[in-house]
Amino acid sequence: MIITSKEEHEILRESGRRLARIRDLVSAMVAPGVSTKTLNGEAERLIRDGGDVPAFLNYTPSESARPYPATLCVSVNDEVVHGVPNENPYILNEGDIVGLDIGLVHRGIITDTAVTVAVGNIDPKAQKLMDATRQALNAGIKVAKAGNHVGDIGAAIEKSVGNRYSIVRKLGGHGVGKNVHEDPFIPNFGTPGTGAELVSGMVLALEPMLNEGSEGVRLAPDGFTFKTVDGKLSAHFEHTILVTDGEAEVITKP
Ligand code: MG
Repeated sequence: MIITSKEEHEILRESGRRLARIRDLVSAMVAPGVSTKTLNGEAERLIRDGGDVPAFLNYTPSESARPYPATLCVSVNDEVVHGVPNENPYILNEGDIVGLDIGLVHRGIITDTAVTVAVGNIDPKAQKLMDATRQALNAGIKVAKAGNHVGDIGAAIEKSVGNRYSIVRKLGGHGVGKNVHEDPFIPNFGTPGTGAELVSGMVLALEPMLNEGSEGVRLAPDGFTFKTVDGKLSAHFEHTILVTDGEAEVITKP
């Protein structure tokens, strides 16, 4: 969406504040022995306690055959994104890395955020992958300003990653606010100065996904979970941002 009023701006900010708090509370629950189903239940409870609505629950993406059955996406290790936490729940193990992706609707405005967190002590290689993915997100945010283009975001992410990891090309960022997925699609690679022009007031969700191995992903039989084709690790970070004439405002900052 494009924010046109001060009132919408305030609702967006409040939506992001609430979502960031819940993301961080659920992240803090991550530990060996915890079930993905428990994380999902807690995320839904926290959203509803605030009087808001989970944005992903019952949302049917255009390419999906059925509505998404959970509040949270929980993607462990070689799962890239959209892992379903409450069908065949998984008990987290020491050394896993777990992506938590969550969205909520507050007074009609949707925000969307994701983090990847460590379960107990993890391999330093996994930590490096997570750090690189967070840095790539920050690099994209830095150039998401009015007058720049969608391709500038992808190019900045690519430059940040270098040849250390593969960038998932099948999935990417998107407009957000009125709907879970809006135009423009924002690839995590690109050419500076190309693609749609960014304008002040645009609400975007930037979300690089980096793989330790090849960039290939495949959809699991559940119709939602994307996994790496080679079984290697993947990490994902996401913020909702508001484009301005200067540096973007990060709506879902901690
Ligand atoms: Mg998203």
